[in-house]
Amino acid sequence: MARKAPPTRFPDAVAVSYYREIKRLVDELGKLTLRVFDEQIKEQIKLYQRNDSAFYKTDGPLDVIQQAIDLIKALSLGIFASSTVKEIATRFLNSLNQYSENIARNQGKIKGIDPTQYEPWLDEYMRSSITENVSYISTIRDEFFPKIEAIIYQGVKNGQSIKEIRDQLVKRIGMTQNRAKFIAVDQTGSIFGQMTAKRHQEMGVNKFKWSTSHDERVRPAHRALDGKVFPYSDPPAEGLPGTPFRCRCVAIPVFDD
Ligand SMILES: [Zn+2]
Repeated sequence: MARKAPPTRFPDAVAVSYYREIKRLVDELGKLTLRVFDEQIKEQIKLYQRNDSAFYKTDGPLDVIQQAIDLIKALSLGIFASSTVKEIATRFLNSLNQYSENIARNQGKIKGIDPTQYEPWLDEYMRSSITENVSYISTIRDEFFPKIEAIIYQGVKNGQSIKEIRDQLVKRIGMTQNRAKFIAVDQTGSIFGQMTAKRHQEMGVNKFKWSTSHDERVRPAHRALDGKVFPYSDPPAEGLPGTPFRCRCVAIPVFDD
């Protein structure tokens, strides 16, 4: 009878703290946007909508609005500074790796193997994952500006009220926070899934049992895989547990007798 390995658990705490760190940047970006909107843009929308001669001046309301948006853009570079973003991504990868190492060491004890002792793949894997995550976080900022520009200009031109335009900005900031959550959960699952697979195979485990998080958010396709055993050399069409979009499933090692 094969001995029972300590279970693999999804690194919820790592995902949550990664989410909080990205969300902090988004919160600052949101606050900055609303502050500049309230202090500089609102007044210009009123001027524009009054449709008086100010409209035709070179430094008319639309020009001033553009300058205000450019100011938000410039200041947001400080919030999403490349050193800050890299630190967040590096902290995330380090804590995820530490979490994965601990589980793999405990599971490896069944076979008397520490799969984390010699890992020539790890440095390069960490480096490329950090680079990838830096780009995901930076994209949040890049994608934000075309959206808020569209909200403000279309709002002004369609004669929406200041409150309507502001509400849409608030909604967009909320959607950007959801994006942060998506990245945090998705990246935690993907990277943890790949690390787990590497370390299981390193300890001579060639098969895994798919295990969902057993809550209501599990997608039906993954619920159908729960408890099933697959060889690492021939995983199901979905891929490895954790690697599909936003997947929180994990691989339990299956030890041969
Ligand atoms: Zn899943």
